[in-house]
Amino acid sequence: IINPTWSAVDGYIVEQLLPKDAVLDAVLEANKAGGLPAIDVSPTQGKLLHMFAKMVGARRILEIGTLGGYSTIWMARALPEDGRLITLECEPHHAEVAKANIASAGLEAVVDIRVGAALDILPKLAAEANTQSQPFDLIFIDADKPNNANYLEWAMKLSRPGTVIVCDNVIRNGAVIDGKTSDVKVHGSRAAFEFQGSHPKLTATALQTVGSKGYDGFTIAIVE
Ligand code: SAM
Repeated sequence: IINPTWSAVDGYIVEQLLPKDAVLDAVLEANKAGGLPAIDVSPTQGKLLHMFAKMVGARRILEIGTLGGYSTIWMARALPEDGRLITLECEPHHAEVAKANIASAGLEAVVDIRVGAALDILPKLAAEANTQSQPFDLIFIDADKPNNANYLEWAMKLSRPGTVIVCDNVIRNGAVIDGKTSDVKVHGSRAAFEFQGSHPKLTATALQTVGSKGYDGFTIAIVE
């Protein structure tokens, strides 16, 4: 569902608070030209992720689900010069488009795209010396929704007290409250809620959102 008022208000917010950004506009154009689905975060959400990264003083960010790198670029721009964003993507074509977009944004030195199924890459990432010495400060989960709880489990292993974990698209037009649905994505959302609600080391909440991308929302958690 996309309500015209929600889109118009998102337009107003963008006009008031988000300066025109030729690089990000070009990213969305390149995604379209490359045939990628327009399932990236909205501009206001991208800026929120950027601000979360700044709020936590992120030096290392993990993203699960790159698509064309739109959210990647928003977050990577919040990193210091020696910061690192590792983003995982299973579709080689998406990763290729993202790679070009990230290069156009001048962020190739900061962003490391790993191609493959996230559940195959995460154990390797956890074994890397850099990850062991420097856990991630911000983790953004935005890939195949049925695996949300698996990704949260890995996020716990890759984090430290104070790490912020954001999990996108968990409201799903309100369908999240339907425990009897056959929609595996909704079950993925519910599993994310259950995981975060019961984990002794997580303080979590969720926000419902409306806007140019419809009615959805995200969870946000801090590792204790
Ligand atoms: N974060 C992106 C943004 O806002 O610009 C949008 C990501 S899109 C919603 C989800 C992406 O996750 C898709 O590109 C999809 O190919 C990828 N994906 C799906 N399953 C995956 C998996 N098992 N491992 C890694 N990536 C996966």
